[in-house]
Amino acid sequence: MIEIGELLKPDEDEDIIDARNAYVAPGFIDMHVHLREPGNPEKETIASGCAAAVAGGFTAVAAMPNTHPALDTPDLVRWVREIAERTGLARVYPVAAITHGREGREPTDYRALADAGAVAFSDDGNTIESAIAQTSAALRAREPGRAFITHCENAAIKEQNEFDPSVETSAVERDIAIARATALPWHIAHVSTQGAIESIAAAKELHIACTAEVTPHHLAFSREEAAGLGIPTKVHPPLRSVEDVDALRRAVRSGTIDAFASDHAPHADDVSPGFSGLEIAAGAYAYALPDLPVRRYVSMLSSNPARILGVPGGTLAAGSPADVTIFADRDWLVDPAAFHSKGKRTLFAGKRLPRRAIATIVGGTVVMQDGRVFARSAP
Ligand SMILES: [Zn+2]
Repeated sequence: MIEIGELLKPDEDEDIIDARNAYVAPGFIDMHVHLREPGNPEKETIASGCAAAVAGGFTAVAAMPNTHPALDTPDLVRWVREIAERTGLARVYPVAAITHGREGREPTDYRALADAGAVAFSDDGNTIESAIAQTSAALRAREPGRAFITHCENAAIKEQNEFDPSVETSAVERDIAIARATALPWHIAHVSTQGAIESIAAAKELHIACTAEVTPHHLAFSREEAAGLGIPTKVHPPLRSVEDVDALRRAVRSGTIDAFASDHAPHADDVSPGFSGLEIAAGAYAYALPDLPVRRYVSMLSSNPARILGVPGGTLAAGSPADVTIFADRDWLVDPAAFHSKGKRTLFAGKRLPRRAIATIVGGTVVMQDGRVFARSAP
């Protein structure tokens, strides 16, 4: 940002975006997306994922490491950043694996991964089963000071009943105990149960450095509601009860949950778990929480993810990167065929959403306006 204020005079060669009846916010950051490269370009590429991101109003995304191979070496982390840079759309912040191959055993080289540009560590998709392995990884990861992002599902309970809420709740409780013991900033991915929220609220009271995110699908639909949509509903963690959905919404309002994150999980088939999320997210959060104050909505999408990941952005102050999202309360119909993402499955297909991004600006360049996506020129 060069200047911010009222009654600024534009230079002759400057473009003007009409933002009347719209909100001008610091760029939205989606801290949980799956871009599928390397390994599965038929599901998504970094380029198609970044086009989906800016179309949805996101100036930056954090890319999860459950690619093939997993993002567990500095070279792979650098490769993701280079492809993203060349694509010239959203900023991409790689999240590196906690363990080699995300197998839950051998810790990766946290210092080298952080130096290569990893903003956080996660074995997302998997939960490190051994508490000893998790604790020793967290102790080592403390040195470069990056956040730990954990996917909390207890495999033993899940094997008995995948819908049992204690699959998640017990794993969250364990991780909070480790976060407390290791004093590492700890982030819990896609919280979905009332029990997990109660644990996180209690941890915050004790000033444990623990934060949490929630997805649009867990906020908008109970399992019963989603079953009537005629769309495959399989996702990890699974959709929950009406009581859980209510608890998630309350936790967003109270601040127990810190961030919105889409868990954008594009697939090329109809059976793999997860949904395409980047292009519905901004509208879906407003759909699930129509009464959420706009300031809180923006902090959940921008300043809080920036703070948790320790990345630039989250502010419109002069001198900060000119990453800006302009959004408006305008009704629109979700048509997955029009997605830039290769993943077309969403529970919001055919729904009218009350809000959408109308322009996305990354580093001072307009990369999306009124649904059209333009690449920045390659550096
Ligand atoms: Zn996950």
